[in-house]
Amino acid sequence: MEISRIGVIGAGQMGNGIAHVCAVSGYEVVLTDVSQDALDKALSQIDRNLARQVSRGKLDEATKAEAQKRISTTLSLPELGQADLVIEAATERETVKDSIFKELVPHLKPDTILTSNTSSISITRLASRTDRPEKFMGFHFMNPVPVMQLVELIRGIATDEETYKACLGVVERLGKTASSAEDFPAFIVNRVLVPMINEAVYVLYEGVGNVKSIDEAMKLGANHPMGPLELADFIGLDTCLAIMNVLHDGLADTKYRPCPLLTKYVEAGWLGRKTGRGFYDYRGEAPVPTR
Ligand code: NAD
Repeated sequence: MEISRIGVIGAGQMGNGIAHVCAVSGYEVVLTDVSQDALDKALSQIDRNLARQVSRGKLDEATKAEAQKRISTTLSLPELGQADLVIEAATERETVKDSIFKELVPHLKPDTILTSNTSSISITRLASRTDRPEKFMGFHFMNPVPVMQLVELIRGIATDEETYKACLGVVERLGKTASSAEDFPAFIVNRVLVPMINEAVYVLYEGVGNVKSIDEAMKLGANHPMGPLELADFIGLDTCLAIMNVLHDGLADTKYRPCPLLTKYVEAGWLGRKTGRGFYDYRGEAPVPTR
């Protein structure tokens, strides 16, 4: 099926990146959020990120302007009804996603493909509560979307081949690479990555190392481009905790128990870069470790 219009739900760090790459690749994009402030911030973030790509010679000014013209925003979810493909990238909470699909489904065209950018929630379960489980799948971008090459495509138990192929076509048109994952908690990347981050928080909690020594050890000792705590701040500590909870509940194995220190940071509202403080404090000139 021909996809030309893409609806993106949630204008946070993932939603603005998804809108950005889709618009650059020629798709018409309608971006929605419950917050006007989030929509305004998303448009200015997209402008900054496109400008950076222009300054690095990756895009020209005309492509930037055309991409921005292709993005419209709305506070009204039903306005996504004419989309050929919907990518939901709202807050990682199952009740939030369920209520979004419940409100949206009556307004959709019969052949619209519904997808979720969820990092960890069961695609099969989300799909089962819509009217089109065969046209539902996981469309999982990595952060930051304009930079990262991978998209995980996750088939729910009912997803049909036509839907998978249409989504694969979109990934290819975005110039990205798809990796196909089965629908088990946290799929491939986060099943491996987030328990490693959680273990780094245990190492901090138990006093084996401090923020600086843990990040430095993993950068220099394992050749990771970012330390695990720096990466956690980048992903968002609430998202990391939500993924650990999904692994813990979904696989019923105590090895996935979230570190109490991770929970404490989230309770404090220290969610990482997006709130100005996480394992590092970003409010000054340079990030300062909080432990
Ligand atoms: P975020 O907190 O930056 O943004 C979420 C946005 O969703 C907010 O702007 C919020 O206002 C909006 N929202 C909440 N309820 C809504 C509703 N009912 N309708 C429309 N918008 C609503 O979160 P994020 O990091 O962009 O994550 C979004 C999704 O992407 C999550 O499912 C997350 O698991 C997934 N994801 C995140 C990362 C990451 O590194 N942060 C990577 C891959 C996938």
